[in-house]
Amino acid sequence: MMKHLIILGDGMADWPCDELGGKTLLQYADTPHFDWLAKHGRNGLLKTIPDGFHPGSEVANSSILGYDQHLVYEGRGPLEAASIGVELAEGDLALRCNLVCLDGDLLKNHSCGRLETEEGDVLMRFLQEQLGSERVHFYTGVQYRHLLVIKGGNKHLRSTPPHDIPLKPWREYMLQAECPEAEETAKLLTDLVLRSQELLANHPLNIERQKRGMDAANCIWPWGGGYRPKMTPLTETYPQIRKGAVITAVDLIRGIGRYAGLDVINVPGATGLWDTDFRAKAEAAIKALRTNDFVYLHVEASDEAGHDGDLHMKLGCIEHIDHLLLAPIMEALLSSPSKGELERVSIALLPDHPTPIRLRTHTAEPIPFCIYHPGIEPDSVQTFDEIAAKDGAYGLLQGNQFINLFMNS
Ligand SMILES: [Zn+2]
Repeated sequence: MMKHLIILGDGMADWPCDELGGKTLLQYADTPHFDWLAKHGRNGLLKTIPDGFHPGSEVANSSILGYDQHLVYEGRGPLEAASIGVELAEGDLALRCNLVCLDGDLLKNHSCGRLETEEGDVLMRFLQEQLGSERVHFYTGVQYRHLLVIKGGNKHLRSTPPHDIPLKPWREYMLQAECPEAEETAKLLTDLVLRSQELLANHPLNIERQKRGMDAANCIWPWGGGYRPKMTPLTETYPQIRKGAVITAVDLIRGIGRYAGLDVINVPGATGLWDTDFRAKAEAAIKALRTNDFVYLHVEASDEAGHDGDLHMKLGCIEHIDHLLLAPIMEALLSSPSKGELERVSIALLPDHPTPIRLRTHTAEPIPFCIYHPGIEPDSVQTFDEIAAKDGAYGLLQGNQFINLFMNS
């Protein structure tokens, strides 16, 4: 039976750049392995962001896996819960809970400058001790990104991601109820925010941070609340996947993987940045394919370089994914004489969305994808990029068309 591997380079797609003579980064970068797959496989474009949804990685990645966002989208909170392994019960409202830095009336920053996970843990435990109750639970996540669960909370709230309002007056962006039934939850959360300010202002850890000239983590900022998403595990939708795994350095993708019924494989050295250990991730994917029928291998570095607006770093990340990640995988899967169990693997290569360096954030345009497995009949496409993929045999796909096609390839 065919096994399946998706290699996802986050934010790899881009726009034509004047600096590159009008080429996109995927066109310009030296990517012989990407191009080999495109040339020997079949190609197309995929709309990963359904109309009306913001082009977030969570939307794009779960769309790629075939989930209808209208049915499953619940916001960041439930993904945060899944990524740190907190089970949500019926009626549990999960909110992403940032530790932010307020400076008087302004939200100074959404991340307290640099907050270590150990520091975040001390503060979240302290908040749980002081504010936790039958209904209110604080959980430690990573760095400044944590989780707040309200039992019996109403999810119909309007909240603002704190990274969208740097140096804005925070009171204007406080959580609000979207309907009368949510008033009680909104009031409870507002009260928690205000009490957190009193408690955190005098916490020794914050006093110490301020002494060292660092931003204090002096307020919680709950946002992106939702319930446990109703996602059918991939193993149910696709019986050919008896066991699947996700490899990523990103909490959000880990969360989606868990809800999709995949095992999470952690790779030491996977940082989510340009210095991530690409080879270690390739090794982990090759190993995982021996015991899994499906592996979702996600690389964040290219997206981060896009957000930094750093053309050369993003080119470098794309080339690293080609040389250090895809090359060893192809070596192991396609040319090794002792392939054994790995004899039949179908590989899909794609980004989740464009992160144009000129824009420094995501866009919702369709992305190029390529599917290759031994025996597939190639189309006319010769290179892996946004422009060449337009001539691919698959045309423009959306919804679960890509994953259905891939799983049945
Ligand atoms: Zn992304």
